[in-house]
Amino acid sequence: MNGNITFSMIKPDAVGNHYIGQILAQMTEAGFQIKAMKLTELTVNQARAFYAVHKDRPFYNDLVEFMTSGPVVALLLEKENAVEDFRTLIGSTDPSKADKGTIREKYAESIQNNAVHGSDSNENAIIESDFFFSKLERV
Ligand code: ATP
Ligand code: MG
Repeated sequence: MNGNITFSMIKPDAVGNHYIGQILAQMTEAGFQIKAMKLTELTVNQARAFYAVHKDRPFYNDLVEFMTSGPVVALLLEKENAVEDFRTLIGSTDPSKADKGTIREKYAESIQNNAVHGSDSNENAIIESDFFFSKLERV
């Protein structure tokens, strides 16, 4: 399965804007199979750890505050070439630069409140999935 999974989160803006259903539909219609899913709220420590790679960036504290501002939907997704295909499906980090029809173009509010997360490598897909899901929580 290595290379065929990615990890995603529907972020607090999109959950709050009632887009869970539409976003899940777009993911599954694009061929991604849901292997694990949960609605949860990140603690500050979890959000800091999840985005630790950005800890020296000026937007880090605001990002942690945003990611802990409400529930998220965590998702383990499977598809051939999952990481790359999922990044294409969600579009650019900045929704004003995202291609038409991508999830971020349709549902994001801003470069920070950008509706969804997608892993950036196969290695991180595994690390991020293990961070959220036990073996028992996966199908
Ligand atoms: P993600 O990791 O959430 O899938 P990404 O890989 O497209 O997003 P990263 O560069 O990893 O983008 O940034 C992580 C998150 O930090 C972004 O999704 C966004 O929420 C926030 N972010 C990134 N750049 C900025 C910025 N310039 N200003 C504010 N927030 C930002
Ligand atoms: Mg990233």
